[in-house]
Amino acid sequence: MRRKSLPRLLVEQIKISIDALEKAGVDNPVLDARLLIAYALDCDRLKLLMDVDRTLSDKEILKIETLIARRASHEPVARIFGKREFWGLNFDLNEDTLDPRADSETLIEAILRLTQTPPSRILDLGTGSGCLLLALLSEYPQATGLGIDLAPGAVQQAKQNAKQLNLSKRAEFKVGDWLENISEKFDIIISNPPYIASTEIPDLMPEVRNHDPLRALDGGTSGLEIYKILIPQIPKFLNPGGMIVMEVGQGQANEVISMMQQAGLTKPSKHKDLAGIERCVIGWKSP
Ligand code: GLN
Repeated sequence: MRRKSLPRLLVEQIKISIDALEKAGVDNPVLDARLLIAYALDCDRLKLLMDVDRTLSDKEILKIETLIARRASHEPVARIFGKREFWGLNFDLNEDTLDPRADSETLIEAILRLTQTPPSRILDLGTGSGCLLLALLSEYPQATGLGIDLAPGAVQQAKQNAKQLNLSKRAEFKVGDWLENISEKFDIIISNPPYIASTEIPDLMPEVRNHDPLRALDGGTSGLEIYKILIPQIPKFLNPGGMIVMEVGQGQANEVISMMQQAGLTKPSKHKDLAGIERCVIGWKSP
């Protein structure tokens, strides 16, 4: 127990917190401890280190220790903050949204590289926080888009994110089951569907397994069940010359390319993420 007569300095609290996260087997104990302490004290991470000799109040210590305990139980920092930066934009998260991954920025980069005519109409299937659609709308000021998600909580969060990013005039979000109620054609269809095989879910890191929505992760027996349902329908929903852009898991790109070719889509390409993993597959409808 901490004795009242011995005030705790910030420098000591940082060390105690790093040790606690290290002991819990958290991946980046130093960075995460600093992020969480800065958040608790409402200051930025650099300022935190300039003031390490100050004494903490009991209230501040309690606030810090509550956050550190959450991280020690493997709740991700982004979940604790309730927000994540994606493509330089801020996205609020809730329990119905996947925590956007930097890997998914591969899809946006690939689209920007390959697109010759800016798209007018974009569809995002399984939109979650809305990060893919809203990142694209931020890049294509003439475009409008529709984001679909089965979870009403995700749709509500995506709408709120659009509003905060000043994109709500061009972004519509609806509850739906993939392509079920769609009756128009698009220039780009983008999707990060669930692609982890059901049998692999128990082996995921607790940060993912316990905090991302299972519905956004579980791709059924093969991991590719959603691709098998979606890809054959895609040509019907693309304008001539339109593109389908899908995120895939490690080792899935070639199979997804075959599915696209079988559906009559052309010019397939694969795009690697920063770790060198083939993360994005693109196919086109002939002009
Ligand atoms: N990229 C996520 C992960 O591997 C999975 C997201 C998904 O299934 N689409 O943790």
